[in-house]
Amino acid sequence: MKKISENSIFFGSYSFFLSLAAIIAAAAVVVSSPVLRMSKEDAARLADSEKGESNAYPLIVLDAGHGGEDGGAVAPDGTCEKDINLNIAKYACAVLLSLGFDCRMTRDGDFMLSDGEGGGKKMRDLKNRVAFTDGGDCIFVSVHQNKFPQQSCSGTQVYYSKNDEGSKDLASILQNNAREYLQKNNTRQIKRAGSEIFVLDRCTVPAVLVECGFLSNPAELKLLETDEYQKKLGCVIALSVVSFLSSGADAHPS
Ligand SMILES: [Zn+2]
Repeated sequence: MKKISENSIFFGSYSFFLSLAAIIAAAAVVVSSPVLRMSKEDAARLADSEKGESNAYPLIVLDAGHGGEDGGAVAPDGTCEKDINLNIAKYACAVLLSLGFDCRMTRDGDFMLSDGEGGGKKMRDLKNRVAFTDGGDCIFVSVHQNKFPQQSCSGTQVYYSKNDEGSKDLASILQNNAREYLQKNNTRQIKRAGSEIFVLDRCTVPAVLVECGFLSNPAELKLLETDEYQKKLGCVIALSVVSFLSSGADAHPS
């Protein structure tokens, strides 16, 4: 995994983009552009990516959880998790692309990734998401929403994969940024994912899953349903990825 070196042109602009306001401003410019894209050749493009180039940056795979007939968690008002996930992932991808990073979305529309043979639809869907990382030299961020019987539960919760040591670092950065920029009272700690989170169990690159908020909390649901808050969450994810790639440059020289 190559990280951003101090000589990188991106490192020079990094401090500027530490400002959430700046990132949101950048997002506002790019989210309506046609730069958001997702082709059916994504997996092949990943395999063909220039991983060996000294100036190549890791691919960032943004995974909008669920899709199609799999709506994920459903809010009391009928809002499906899958739609919020997609919007947030699109915003994060737009910001990262605008900064020059190579970013792919596992889906850019309302569908499952259930192509292939064997297993049930859901299992094929999950395996196809993980397959985006098969080429290595990438990081994986899966976007989800939470739901719990108790309405009082709220706040972003980040899970990390046990398979790559970078996962925990990325999770910490994302959890801290969510607290700093969006949820001052969030006391949640990152959690190591077990086998129940398939994508994190199978990914062998730095991988996290972010439960952005609780659809079961009325106040948080209101926020999660707004374009503005979705945009902020996307920016926090993008900011966290940039911060992760900017850290530990000495340990991962280009
Ligand atoms: Zn989910």
